Amino acid sequence: MPTRSPTGRLDKTLDMPISLERDGGHGCRRYRCRMRCPCGTGLPYGECCELLHLGTPAPTAERLMRSRFSAFAVNLPDYLLETWHPSTRPTELDLDSDVRWYRLDIESRERGGMLDNGGLVTFTAWFRSTDGPGSLHETSRFAREGGAWRYVDGIVDTRR
Ligand SMILES: [Zn+2]
Repeated sequence: MPTRSPTGRLDKTLDMPISLERDGGHGCRRYRCRMRCPCGTGLPYGECCELLHLGTPAPTAERLMRSRFSAFAVNLPDYLLETWHPSTRPTELDLDSDVRWYRLDIESRERGGMLDNGGLVTFTAWFRSTDGPGSLHETSRFAREGGAWRYVDGIVDTRR
């Protein structure tokens, strides 16, 4: 997914629609709340992608894809780097604080299951930015590296 360098506007990024949905006042830690997970499963973030963000391995390529989308949405560049295949991983990653990822549609998946070592996931990711709304259509390639799914690369088609 596209990123722009460097913004350092962490606070601005965190203050997103996602935080508006946060169920404040019941003492949960940041984001581990009943807000719906950005990846679109309908589950609370704390029962969905946050588990992966905290270290649970993704069982399938699609699951990793979803957790990476959520990492874009809640601004976790470290998770994105960790789940990037070493052969294609950038040395650093600055997420664009003006881009707000709000919806993910998984369109197809090929292999990427528990018994596979590679897989493809095709999706559309929807965002809003200061330039207006847009979507990113990509077929991402995933490989299992040391037992863990990693994002390798993708064929991107950005439509605005
Ligand atoms: Zn999720």
